[in-house]
Amino acid sequence: IKFNAAQFLTSAPTLKHCPPDTGAEVAFAGRSNAGKSSAINTLTQQKKLARTSKTPGRTQLINFFTLGEEQTRLVDLPGYGFAKVPLEQKLEWQKHLAKYLEERKSLKGLVLVSDIRHPLQEFDRMMIQWAEDSQMPLHILLTKADKLKKGPAKNTMLDVKRALKDFQGEASVQTFSALKKEGLDQLKSRLTEWLTP
Ligand code: GDP
Repeated sequence: IKFNAAQFLTSAPTLKHCPPDTGAEVAFAGRSNAGKSSAINTLTQQKKLARTSKTPGRTQLINFFTLGEEQTRLVDLPGYGFAKVPLEQKLEWQKHLAKYLEERKSLKGLVLVSDIRHPLQEFDRMMIQWAEDSQMPLHILLTKADKLKKGPAKNTMLDVKRALKDFQGEASVQTFSALKKEGLDQLKSRLTEWLTP
């Protein structure tokens, strides 16, 4: 998979506006500030790729990137936590997100990006539940691992693995650091598994 050939394809406000549901895609989700953009930029070796999703007004769009060819895509799902969004809008958005996970046939797996210092927050638990409900393979990226010493980082990973022991489906966990570029090979091999027919 040509991760560094990533190119912005389109933004979709709802499921209806997504590109044709053919080929294969993987989606990244995470609370705001979890480190999702940094992870995507590190993966694709492009400094500003995922910045589009941070432009005000674009945060609530599903952003699609092609990976070398149109039929292989990376999807940046909006995070929450921006205080100024009214609850009603947030719930409306959650509906779109759940529908996307449930109905998108080309979606092969979900990467949940989480700050290793604050794993398994409410948003994360919701995404994990949805992944289970939609039988979507899940990979949890515990990022900013450079903020912890090796021991505590590993313990957090084990805690998260333990929390997933009842997960009905395919789930995996890894530590990652965009700053140190650590965990990149592991992430790439997971995504390649999902995206390879
Ligand atoms: P997003 O809102 O989830 O897209 O988060 P960003 O990727 O913008 O990251 C939020 C903040 O965390 C920024 O200040 C980043 O520089 C920082 N950050 C992201 N990844 C890492 C990492 O691996 N290590 C460290 N130390 N900081 C990181």
